[in-house]
Amino acid sequence: AVRSGGNDIIAAIATPPGQGGVGIVRISGPNLCSIATAISGRLPEPRRAELSDFLDAQGEVLDRGIALFFPAPHSYTGEDVLELQGHGGTAVMNLLLDRCLQLGARLAEPGEFTLRAFLNDKLDLVQAESVADLIEASSAEAARSAMRSLKGEFSATIQKMVQSLIDLRVLVEATLDFPEEEIDFLQSARAMEQLQIIQEQLEQVLLASRQGSLLQEGVKVVLVGQPNVGKSSLLNQLAGDDVAIVTEIPGTTRDTIRQSIQLAGVPIHLIDTAGLRETSDIVEQHGIARTHAAIEQADMVLLLVDCRHGLTSADQTVLAGLPARLPVLTVYNKIDLLNQAPRVEQNSLGKAVYLSAKQGEGIELLRATLLETVGWQANLAGGGVFMARQRHLRALMQAKAALECAATWLNDACQLEMLAEELRMAQQALSSITGEFTADDLLGEIFSSFCIGK
Ligand code: GDP
Ligand code: ZN
Repeated sequence: AVRSGGNDIIAAIATPPGQGGVGIVRISGPNLCSIATAISGRLPEPRRAELSDFLDAQGEVLDRGIALFFPAPHSYTGEDVLELQGHGGTAVMNLLLDRCLQLGARLAEPGEFTLRAFLNDKLDLVQAESVADLIEASSAEAARSAMRSLKGEFSATIQKMVQSLIDLRVLVEATLDFPEEEIDFLQSARAMEQLQIIQEQLEQVLLASRQGSLLQEGVKVVLVGQPNVGKSSLLNQLAGDDVAIVTEIPGTTRDTIRQSIQLAGVPIHLIDTAGLRETSDIVEQHGIARTHAAIEQADMVLLLVDCRHGLTSADQTVLAGLPARLPVLTVYNKIDLLNQAPRVEQNSLGKAVYLSAKQGEGIELLRATLLETVGWQANLAGGGVFMARQRHLRALMQAKAALECAATWLNDACQLEMLAEELRMAQQALSSITGEFTADDLLGEIFSSFCIGK
């Protein structure tokens, strides 16, 4: 049971595996005096870096480094926290960790330090999640928006909406007690207006959160194109200076080919349909199944054709096999061979970009059009983006649906009970984001995806 933690001492290596200048073992729990004394001779003075020998059971020096002590409640977890900063080598870090375990600490679960911080009200759930998002952020933009959530900007926005909802609920519930005056009461208090203001706030937050979720989770793009139309050339151009980020994730050679590039910090995961050829080969059929599964989750199609030939019948066949809901962006490549200029046009499938991957002409046009197609709003990117997860988006959508129902009931003065109920559900959905009412299994799910030592 997740919530019952916190009575024992946990320890973990907080720095990444491998070699580095410094490695840190972090320990948290009630009363660390005996562990600290056994390892470094005494409990260090609170919040003061103390140079210290770290000793094994025989009193032999395992490492020499800095010991730091943060007494409860002024620590990351809200408990006593001891940090042993030693030399960043795998063997020496493991010796230090083993020594802690020998002295009664237990190995921390992934995310358990942050879980304790959450349970001790050091962070709300959004902030706790943003710790993991910040660590996992693969672009500067993603890191910045995770940091905004960690500082509490997202939570504050949610809390403001929750407060407005509470005010409105108080008004409605009070009206329920005085039925004869209800219509006047609600109208004079401009309940509808209040509700609309909350709905508008929610729209803003949804927009900012969708952007954040683009940054965090990226978009899945199905790449359609016959051999030699210039797929590789185009991907290299798109990746630009981030060539290092272009990774062909190795599976079996016949597996789905997946590459990821970043545009404006948004991870673009490409799913290559080259793996969709018909085959009787069992291994290859597996690859095809995987490709189909990937396509099920795709956000858009990038169709690449040679501008001299246009769409081939093979392209048509592949397109016909893709879900119709997917927006299609067509790229007419090799315009240099027809002496044409780069441009964007509208065709029957959607937008079409004319470019030359080889000459690098029209690449910026494609970048902008691609980001536009997936819903990225460059003008929001600066400030208002929150690092939102699917969980947050779902809750926001639930609240939105409840508020829409509430608006309908509000227009029908006989249905105030229904109105009150929808408002209650909207509030509950919003509160679930910051973790006010959260089931243990959800907490388990969230924190288990953290790295150890955080
Ligand atoms: P893929 O098989 O779809 O990955 O295509 P490649 O990127 O390997 O390119 C196939 C051939 O087309 C190569 O010889 C490229 O140099 C050439 N090519 C790609 N893009 C262009 C272009 O925009 N203009 C011209 N003239 N040739 C191109
Ligand atoms: Zn290629």
